[in-house]
Amino acid sequence: MKITEIRIAGLRGATPKGGWSEELEPENVVHTLVAIHTDGGLVGIGAVFTSDELVRASLEILKPLLIGETALEPERVSEKLHQNTFWLGRGGSITHTISGIDIALWDLFGKVTQQPIGRFFGGRLREKVMPYASLLMDEPPIMQANLRNLLAQGFKAFKIGWGTFGRISPANDELLVRSAREAIGDDCFLAVDAGGSDAYWKGSLRWAINASHMLADYNVGWFEEALHPDDLEGFKTLRKASPVPISGCEVLTRRQSFIPFITQGAFDIIQPDVVKCGGISEWRRIANLAEDHGIQMIPHGWNTAVGLATDLQLSSAFHRTNFVEYCTGAPYVDDITTKPWVLDKNGMLEIPSGPGIGIEFDPEKIEKYSGVTNLI
Ligand SMILES: [Mg+2]
Repeated sequence: MKITEIRIAGLRGATPKGGWSEELEPENVVHTLVAIHTDGGLVGIGAVFTSDELVRASLEILKPLLIGETALEPERVSEKLHQNTFWLGRGGSITHTISGIDIALWDLFGKVTQQPIGRFFGGRLREKVMPYASLLMDEPPIMQANLRNLLAQGFKAFKIGWGTFGRISPANDELLVRSAREAIGDDCFLAVDAGGSDAYWKGSLRWAINASHMLADYNVGWFEEALHPDDLEGFKTLRKASPVPISGCEVLTRRQSFIPFITQGAFDIIQPDVVKCGGISEWRRIANLAEDHGIQMIPHGWNTAVGLATDLQLSSAFHRTNFVEYCTGAPYVDDITTKPWVLDKNGMLEIPSGPGIGIEFDPEKIEKYSGVTNLI
């Protein structure tokens, strides 16, 4: 089975805010679907967390390496793309685009073998996983109303992030966290994301250490991106000083970038994004290294239904991966599949057992959000 064509669809019209200081508009494209077509007629789906323009430009370089390749060897083919582009956008748009190609190749491999791809990563350790509802921080009354609404939908775990946290005062930080904890009660899981990958992040190590002690008072499950994403030494110090687990790494790409953060003990939890870091093949290798160092892998997933479905497959196979991120208020997660995501009474999400990444997409919905009529 050979790769014959690669098609893409940039999602637009309902792009949720990212929390960035230069905030996204609904028409901005930051999520792009990738479809790999084959001479056997099967199609694999992937996604990239970047614009369709960057994916299209990257594909001009990657296509000659892909067209005519076998569609049955995702890891070898993705590594071929990495190895042949060391001089061209390594770690940037090229790596982002390889992420979508790699996911699509694994999806194809699962469809050919009629297996959910989690089986290939070591087997299915669990059939359900807890999604945490991820939302941006807002003025306390608005944020509390949003949290109560999500609680009513059945979510039992939450993460609040970005907004004014770490940007105004320690008193404001505590007000936000106290408001969230009051809204969801003492029994639900709560994580806090400072959003240190925002432009010109100014949260200092001293601020982060003090904030971590405040978060412990509200039984916060992890403290995410408290420092600038490249601050290896800062994270090592913060982890030693913090009473709550420290997490990060959502913007890192390529497995090699994660090595110092893992081997030098910078994090309790690392959060690679499968639609950015290089795809499933790269994520697995990061996960294997992390697990051997006693570090938990919780996927970053502020993306699409493709990203969520892929994260569910990964979580089926890694024993410490007991959460997936569920980006709330995002039609690209909730409104492009043929079946809705359903939480059970315990707030758990079933890991699809169908072939590939295990979900099907609605071509009309994809057209609605991209204008592309022939993706699949
Ligand atoms: Mg984050």
